[in-house]
Amino acid sequence: MGAVETGAGAAKRIVVKIGSALLVDDATGAIRQDWLDALADDVAALKAQDREVLIVSSGSIAAGRRLLGLSRGALKLEEKQAAAATGQIRLAHAYQTALARRGVTVAQILVSPADTEERRRHLNARNTILQLCRLGAVPVINENDTVATAEIRYGDNDRLAARVATMVSADLLVLLSDIDGLYSADPRRDPTARHIPEVPAITPEILAMAGDVALSSEQGGLSTGGMKTKLDAARIAVAGGCAMAIAKGWDAHALSAFAAGGARATWFRPQTEPLTARKRWIAGALKPIGAITVDAGAAAALARGKSLLPAGALGLEGAFERGDPVRILGPDGAPLAKGLAAYSAEDAARILGRKTTEIGEILGYVGRAELVHADDLVLDGAPGRGARAGRAAVAPDGAESLE
Ligand code: GLU
Repeated sequence: MGAVETGAGAAKRIVVKIGSALLVDDATGAIRQDWLDALADDVAALKAQDREVLIVSSGSIAAGRRLLGLSRGALKLEEKQAAAATGQIRLAHAYQTALARRGVTVAQILVSPADTEERRRHLNARNTILQLCRLGAVPVINENDTVATAEIRYGDNDRLAARVATMVSADLLVLLSDIDGLYSADPRRDPTARHIPEVPAITPEILAMAGDVALSSEQGGLSTGGMKTKLDAARIAVAGGCAMAIAKGWDAHALSAFAAGGARATWFRPQTEPLTARKRWIAGALKPIGAITVDAGAAAALARGKSLLPAGALGLEGAFERGDPVRILGPDGAPLAKGLAAYSAEDAARILGRKTTEIGEILGYVGRAELVHADDLVLDGAPGRGARAGRAAVAPDGAESLE
């Protein structure tokens, strides 16, 4: 997408995140049917333009709590889980009915962090979601709140949507919110607050602007995320090569207005070519479960975009399996990169420091020549090959530090 482009532009695969406050009436817990019907029109219109649309929708807890008599105050975790179980079925039904009237089939996907972060589960979730898109359906995605405990929750659908967007290699993530983007100060309190149309890099100044303001409180306090989680989402999305926009979703047909480029929004754009799907995922979502220490020669080779060969590896830690994400450390222990191991820790330990030609003899089978292939490897501070302008403003593994 060009720098001046607004709206949906050329994006082919779009993830739209819907906040609870937009979809569920705070006073009654009812679905805002007219709003949803308008959204369904907008989604159908985007699909008619040959784009794939995925919805990440909040609202299960807000829609379910009153049905269980949980009408007032903050909910305990188990009450949220119960409310989500009740509300999610209602939410899914509402989407199904609204979109069916436009001839669009929906499919429900409930995910947990492990589904985007664990390699095998990630592949399953990605394949299923992409298959649904290929078959013309609109996946409606939410967190699997009923079984999510505090430790294993995303907790907010902003970051969940960003994880999903990068997992499925989306071009664009739109956070439909109750505000039209980021401001230089809290616009509810400061009349001089300026709207920021584009954020080239998520700098400490930008983070400071977001503060911890829960922007939805004015609309009834339904939403979990404030501007902070939206910036966290932007960081994940942009690191994964996906553009993100925060747009106001409150009015009917907000998505169409945004898609046509007529709505004010704050844009976060990836600064390089999109990474390959695999690199996006390695950069944005994977938690390393082991480490390989390499020698100085290998460290220099990695910096030039080369693979890690067994000959350059000095040591390892962690019980990783083949295909698991590992951190790659320099001889001094400094983190250099993250990648997918081509061998299990057990087998890797046996070929450390050995020539590639010796692998077959040592292990009794010939695996890959590399311990971590360059295609499966992302340098810290530079996902993808070579330097990445603007990335310096982002912590090397910022996505993970958000957990
Ligand atoms: N998954 C939660 C729900 O459906 C919403 C999380 C959020 O508000 O971001 O109620």
